[in-house]
Amino acid sequence: MIIAIDGPSGAGKSTLGKMLAKKLGLLYLDTGAMYRAVALAVVRKDIALEDQEAAANIARQARIELVGEPESLKVFVDDEDVTAEIRTLEAAQAASIVSSNSAVRRIMVEHQRQMGLSAPNGCVLEGRDIGSVVFPSADIKFFLTARPEARARRRFEEDHAKGRSSTYEQTLAEINERDRRDVSRDDSPLTIADDAVVIDTSELDLAEVFEQMIAVVDGVKSEAA
Ligand code: C5P
Repeated sequence: MIIAIDGPSGAGKSTLGKMLAKKLGLLYLDTGAMYRAVALAVVRKDIALEDQEAAANIARQARIELVGEPESLKVFVDDEDVTAEIRTLEAAQAASIVSSNSAVRRIMVEHQRQMGLSAPNGCVLEGRDIGSVVFPSADIKFFLTARPEARARRRFEEDHAKGRSSTYEQTLAEINERDRRDVSRDDSPLTIADDAVVIDTSELDLAEVFEQMIAVVDGVKSEAA
């Protein structure tokens, strides 16, 4: 079973994707982490994020691995653990620039398809283009969204719990900037697939969203039985 979860940043995709993967025994793929890892590798090589050809070469050469259980997933680039480093605001912005590069996207999409298809029980993939590009025939497509203020508030609280010192206003500005880029880029912009189940999580807690998602999964499973 392939489950696609798309939506803007801070809508709850990662947390819910991990919960779903754990509950259903599926592989969990955080595709945003892959774009963040490529961006980090580009920055470390002192290459401009806008340099399309050089960034694509890095994406081609870098060995990006997602290792471990969903809730303790680690991200490696060429055997180095970059799990913490890719979570900074700078890494997020860099990922958003690198991800508008079509050559980088082609390489990542191919990698994601291979990983998803080789997972023995199936996979939950979370990102921006999963239901539209990576797995357009996914068994289930979710699109999670929420008002920008609700998403920024959550991100801000998560960051604070991790000891980061950004302000709510900075977080909101950062989220708005990334959303603008994700929605307006030419290649694979963030869109709602026609057959996606849309859930607005602004006024819902995690348990409530999870319950709705599980109900959809159960419905699809019983239809298939
Ligand atoms: O999901 P996350 O915030 O970690 O993603 C970082 C950035 O990577 C996003 O802002 C987006 O620009 C890009 N991305 C993408 N396609 C995906 C996943 C992430 O373009 N499937």
